[in-house]
Amino acid sequence: MNQPSFSRRPDIGDRVRVSFEFFPPKTPEMENRLWDTVKRLEPLQPHFVSVTYGAGGSTRERTLRIVRRIIAETGLAPAAHLTCVDASRAEVDDVIASFLQAGVTRFVALRGDPSAGVGSAYEPHADGYTNGAELTAALQRQGATDISVSAYPEKHPESPDFATDIDMLKRKVDAGATRAITQFFFENDDYERYVERVRKAGIYIPIVPGILPIENFRQVANFAGRTGATIPAWVAQRFEGLDNDRQTHALVSAAVAAEQVLDLVERGVEDFHFYPMSRAELSFAICHLIGVRPVETAAVVSEAEAA
Ligand code: FAD
Repeated sequence: MNQPSFSRRPDIGDRVRVSFEFFPPKTPEMENRLWDTVKRLEPLQPHFVSVTYGAGGSTRERTLRIVRRIIAETGLAPAAHLTCVDASRAEVDDVIASFLQAGVTRFVALRGDPSAGVGSAYEPHADGYTNGAELTAALQRQGATDISVSAYPEKHPESPDFATDIDMLKRKVDAGATRAITQFFFENDDYERYVERVRKAGIYIPIVPGILPIENFRQVANFAGRTGATIPAWVAQRFEGLDNDRQTHALVSAAVAAEQVLDLVERGVEDFHFYPMSRAELSFAICHLIGVRPVETAAVVSEAEAA
């Protein structure tokens, strides 16, 4: 039997590239579920899959373990998230070295949220990297060449204005960032305006929109503001009355995200980063709608041709 080889539909899916973001699991059950998700999304041939990183050593081990497993058991290119929170420069440099040793070549460099909780003032470690730009420089010093950083179409909540926010992005690019991935957003005009501002500031790296398929509207509504993202009234209206109707909720989520992505494609966007991924169905369905699919394997194609 032929080795399966996946190809894209010869339509919009040929132009669009997707990546997915996963949380490192905390329990064996969650790990099984993550693995189901990874296996389901793998045939979509994402550009890369990223694994997030939390504060403290335990998540660092989890991120490293999952990234290693992705390398060993899939054909996917993993990107490791990394933050500066509660770690000295030497500790962060060690983490970078262990990722590089594991064969990781892609990174997502982040300052991270204050360990006292989002909304409190960020206190860098006394001997630590203080922001995404310093971490990006550290990654580049150790030889990383594919470094994504964050970007905020509605600006980061700590930034007093867009100029300060975009200045930080510029510092990250000057330090070696090759791609920015945005915080999730729902108003494509906000994204477009932000990209215009960024280009005017002389920043030319790809600004990849972060797309959040809404698995649970209540939860998203509760944390969105703290992350620098707003939920427009029209999005809230679409989820009205669906708290206890999971099936309709999922259908509406797929429709909202597909509408957003298709509109961005119309505006010329070709790269999309989907997160956060605890279940595959929603993202799989959205990818299907935008033409990103595992169509047929070589084996299936030749069987069909023979028939
Ligand atoms: P930076 O880029 O260093 O700074 C963010 C903004 O804060 C800047 O734009 C700047 O304007 C402002 N700022 C920073 N310092 C100052 C200052 N001294 N004075 C004035 N303004 C300042 N968090 C995790 O813990 N783990 C993850 O894996 C993770 N992954 C993420 C992936 C993406 C794509 C995104 C968008 C966010 C992610 N986060 C993650 C959340 C992120 O850690 C938080 O948003 C954090 O608050 C900021 O990190 P940063 O890298 O954006 O910070």
